[in-house]
Amino acid sequence: MGNQSSARQRKCCDCANREKARKKPLSRREGGGIMVGEIFVKTILNKHRRRDSWFLDDYSLNPYQFCDFNCIYCYIRGSKYGGNMREGLAVKINAPTLLEKELLRRAKRKEYGFIALSSATEPWMHIEKKYELTRKCLKVIAKFKFPVHCLTKSTLILRDLDLLEEIDKNAILPSDLSKLKHGTLITFSLSTLEEKIAKIFEPSAPKPRERLEALQKVKNAGFHAGVAYIPVLPFLSDSDEQLEEMIRTAKEFNADYVFVGALTLHGINDLYYKVIEKHFPELLSKYKQLFKIFSQPGRDYQLRLEKKAKVFCEKYRVRYRIL
Ligand code: SF4
Repeated sequence: MGNQSSARQRKCCDCANREKARKKPLSRREGGGIMVGEIFVKTILNKHRRRDSWFLDDYSLNPYQFCDFNCIYCYIRGSKYGGNMREGLAVKINAPTLLEKELLRRAKRKEYGFIALSSATEPWMHIEKKYELTRKCLKVIAKFKFPVHCLTKSTLILRDLDLLEEIDKNAILPSDLSKLKHGTLITFSLSTLEEKIAKIFEPSAPKPRERLEALQKVKNAGFHAGVAYIPVLPFLSDSDEQLEEMIRTAKEFNADYVFVGALTLHGINDLYYKVIEKHFPELLSKYKQLFKIFSQPGRDYQLRLEKKAKVFCEKYRVRYRIL
């Protein structure tokens, strides 16, 4: 995603699956009712050219290929291999071993930085219950004292609070981020507070309320945590009133910070429009107008979101972004 807003959307759904995976899985197994491929990858830790100014990560790590939450707006769907996410769903079975080697090398050079877990998959998706691959990666991250930024829609993250607490206390932060005083950041991603709308656009993810309750639990456990309303859905969750309610709600659930980002439709226009046509036919022409250039809303739309988000964050005394 070239523009800033779509780069943010990629935090939960990144098509740039940079690890060089084998194209065909070694095997396919049944996992949680769906067939899951098992693949070996050559690399697992992506080093960014520049730190992400919103999420503060210098690295990203994706233990799985694609995602079983199947969000309609997911950026992965627009990628070269993302047409059928369920068929491509795969476990990178050598991820912890590779991560151990890569973090050993980075730690020796003192190249500490936040690892985004994840940028191109949901690290705590349903099949993680069986494979525990994310948990194994967290053990490696804790061992080498790297900080981690967890980006999730899943309540399964609560299973791993023991490891995340260890990372939170012991991680070595980059010197310019030492004021954060937390080695673990946890951000829950939502696109709407309305259950009915979430069910349409995020069919297999936990309900918005469940994510917010998980946020409350991680806050009660002492973590630095917030909400990413990325992407907000045009005409469905982006009105001034809705933005205000979303930020007020984040505060009620004790969020330290909030992000708000726009939807982009690169490579997924047709699929998204089909869903709009089915469930909200009256909105189709408005969508086509809003996304007529480069599959993303114009600059004015993005600026309005940012301006309103800042106003409501100030009103409800919650930080707009982490720093
Ligand atoms: S949770 Fe949704 S948006 Fe995120 S990677 Fe999975 S399908 Fe994509």
